[in-house]
Order: sequence, then C-alpha cells, then structure tokens
Amino acid sequence: MTSTTSSAQPRKQENGGDSAVVPLPWAARIREAGLRVTKPRLAVLDALERNQHATADEVLAVVRTVMPGITVQSIYVVLHSLTKAGLLRQLDLANSPSRYETRVDDNHHHAVCTVCGRIEDVACAVGHAPCLVPSEAHGMNIHVADVVYQGVCPECSVVKAANTVRT
Ligand SMILES: [Zn+2]
Ligand SMILES: [Zn+2]
Ligand SMILES: [Zn+2]
Repeated sequence: MTSTTSSAQPRKQENGGDSAVVPLPWAARIREAGLRVTKPRLAVLDALERNQHATADEVLAVVRTVMPGITVQSIYVVLHSLTKAGLLRQLDLANSPSRYETRVDDNHHHAVCTVCGRIEDVACAVGHAPCLVPSEAHGMNIHVADVVYQGVCPECSVVKAANTVRT
C-alpha cells in the first residue's frame, strides 16, 4: 500500500476494466449505504477523514468548529449509524474509549505504543478477514481475527533509554 492515508477512501471503479481508483464523495457513499445525507453525518465523516482513530470526544471537538450547537449524544448517534452502515470502522483498544476511522475495506491492523498511546495503521499481509487460521474453531464460523500489535514507538524508546541512563 503506497497511497497516502490522508486522502478519501479510494474505491475501485465498478464498471470499466481498468484499475483506476476514484474517491467517491461522502454524500454519494452515504446514499449508497442506504442512509439519508445529513449535515452531521457529512461533518463526522469529514472530521474522521482528517483525524483517523479519533474518539467521540475528539470528533465532537472538530465537528463543533462547523456546527457549534451539536451535542455529544448526536455525535454518538451518527457514529453508531455510520459504523452500522459500514462507512466507519470502530476500534476498541484496551484502556481506551472507542475510536473510529474511515478506512474500512482492507482489514488493516493497528500498532499501538504502550507508552504514549500512538496508533498506526499496519496493512494486513493477507488483506481480508480472518487473516489468521485458528488452531481450534470450536465449531464456530470465524469471521475476523482481531490483531493489535503492541510495542514502544521510536520517540518513547529514546525517552526510555535516556531515563535508564539517568537512574
Ligand atoms: Zn510512544
Ligand atoms: Zn486504522
Ligand atoms: Zn492480517
């Protein structure tokens, strides 16, 4: 995956055999998902497109810059409906409120720094779910393997090394 993460979710053209990737406008994608296009939905998608892995509170802060009267309850309702419609992916990490992102189609994983909480996308080597074969499925039809890589980011590694020297 070489494309930048800041652009709109690219989408392969349905008709036409070439592999041209065109970002569909959010209004069209909302309609395609069977939802009504509303200002809060557009504002939430726009906020998350520019701030991936944001919490509801962080989304609220961004949306309030364009819709000052919007409530946190409205944000939760919009996040829920967009997630249910498949336009957002909800990310539940340990010790963190739910986070949301617009990159939904690629079964990508996350690398989390256990010191500062930084979250980075990690492309799935397989590209579809589930990308791990369970040793025992217990008769279940397995849909997804939730993979979270935990570690220490380069910046925190430097700080940690410096502290170790001092003590
Ligand atoms: Zn860190
Ligand atoms: Zn992500
Ligand atoms: Zn994977």
